[in-house]
Amino acid sequence: MPVPARSVYFCEDHAMFRETARKFMEQEVAPHADAWEAERRIPRAIWQRMGEMGFLGLVGPESHGGMDADVFFSIAFLEELPRSRMGGFTAAVTVHGFIATNAIRDHGTDDLKQRYLAPSITGEKLAAICISEPDAGSDVAALRTSAVRDGDHWVINGAKTWITNGVYADFHVVACKTDKDAGAGGISLIVVDTDTPGVSSSKLNKMGWHSSDTAEIAYENVRVPLGNLIGEENAGFRYIMQTFAFERLSAATTSIGSCDLALEETLAYMKTREAFGRPIAKFQALRHRLADMFTEVEAARQLCYHTAWLHQNGVPAVKESSQAKLLASELSKRVADECLQFFGGFGFVEEYPMARFYRDARVGTIVAGTSEIMREIIAKVEVDGVDFGRPREKKVHQAPAAPAPVAQAAEVAPNTVPELFLSLPTRLRPEKTEGLRTRVHFQFPGSAWTVEIDGPLCQVQEGLHGEPACVVQSTEEVYLDLEAGRESPEMAFMTGKVKISNPLVMQQFARSFRRIAR
Ligand SMILES: Cc1cc2nc3c(=O)[nH]c(=O)nc-3n(C[C@H](O)[C@H](O)[C@H](O)COP(=O)(O)OP(=O)(O)OC[C@H]3O[C@@H](n4cnc5c(N)ncnc54)[C@H](O)[C@@H]3O)c2cc1C
Repeated sequence: MPVPARSVYFCEDHAMFRETARKFMEQEVAPHADAWEAERRIPRAIWQRMGEMGFLGLVGPESHGGMDADVFFSIAFLEELPRSRMGGFTAAVTVHGFIATNAIRDHGTDDLKQRYLAPSITGEKLAAICISEPDAGSDVAALRTSAVRDGDHWVINGAKTWITNGVYADFHVVACKTDKDAGAGGISLIVVDTDTPGVSSSKLNKMGWHSSDTAEIAYENVRVPLGNLIGEENAGFRYIMQTFAFERLSAATTSIGSCDLALEETLAYMKTREAFGRPIAKFQALRHRLADMFTEVEAARQLCYHTAWLHQNGVPAVKESSQAKLLASELSKRVADECLQFFGGFGFVEEYPMARFYRDARVGTIVAGTSEIMREIIAKVEVDGVDFGRPREKKVHQAPAAPAPVAQAAEVAPNTVPELFLSLPTRLRPEKTEGLRTRVHFQFPGSAWTVEIDGPLCQVQEGLHGEPACVVQSTEEVYLDLEAGRESPEMAFMTGKVKISNPLVMQQFARSFRRIAR
């Protein structure tokens, strides 16, 4: 697409950066596309070049060499990335630069950031994210790769499949079960160096994305230090879900970029190819189909931009990311098919660009969550009313005339909702609440509670008091199950059993208390 001269989303800096990214793809990557596709490999040197250009650290923190740039720099880059003319290269770079290291960036220790994030930003180390397994693709919670503590180490056993960068990566971010009985609430993310004994991988032979190494991986008694755990133990599913929304926006954006290029190539061909004494671009039957495609691509692009704007403003945008991914990846498949048709027989031969576009577009509706799963997420929002953490209007509840007294500290094993809330002050972890001031409202059908944290102090009151930073709505039963570990918070949130107006505040809130001893 032409660089937008005036846009509500992009400024002059974005436009200049977009030009740089486009030139880079056209001059330093695309000329090698045929060779890298044939070799089924991306040379290491180009990763380092991209690191030098700052492309691999757009979403990385400045403290570790990243740009910490606003979302629209990433969007501009992702739209230009398909000008590499390889779906495989586009996927490899997206996974490495925008997905695989996100959990390290957001939840990793400084040591993990120094060892893995910083060299990923420079392009010295290559990353893969290993979630899918032979028996667990769409159903992430069903994964079985296990990590068990043994002294100072985790011992990892299991198998992963469909892993982008899986063969040539220097490290894998591996989703493992660390509590096999806790479903989604028993998943952790652990970093594994690929030269650790017991890691083996082999490349899958795919119909497209040839330059990308998509791997099957086995972990057999792989020992990694306990410090390679990212963030909290058993919080991996939440971290994965946080990454998924941006991953889906990234996939949508690269789909739009590849539609742009396919349409450009096709239009150029149609202006020179003649039939019945005139360029085929003059046939109304074809030009109207082109007009439709240009229109649909533009509409999908604007949805991507709007979704990016939501991300930029801290809105989880789970629905919009899924809508953008669904629309753009399905569109990209159709655009590749239509464009190939307009090339006639030349569309079917490898010397022309459409065959690769066609092959590469096909997998777009499978990776990063299938179209069926995208529809399911959208239906959860639109049909079931699940809000996935969107800000909502505050509901007015009847508060008692006088606030109940501050709860007395009492270490009890809570079995009822009042006991649960009254136990909070005794479970506060002051080391986690330094400088924190927040107020959360809990609304249940039969009761309501206000919990305030002010540094090392925690106050619990029955009823709703003051302006909350977050509102949690659920039933008493579900909340007790959550606190007792019988229900996973992530699944309860995903399925709408618990509604949380501000998940970030709630995460911080949850971290502020010791869990109930089970
Ligand atoms: C080239 C490539 C690269 C990939 N890269 C990575 C990577 O880097 N890391 C990684 O972890 N994974 C990666 N994946 C895996 C990808 O995310 C999965 O393929 C995808 O999530 C689907 O899982 P599955 O293949 O097991 O299909 P399944 O989950 O078995 O689904 C099979 C079919 O059933 C449908 N289906 C499943 N559940 C439902 C439902 N509830 N409702 C309706 N329909 C449903 C699906 O939509 C699909 O059509 C990659 C895959 C490919 C092909």
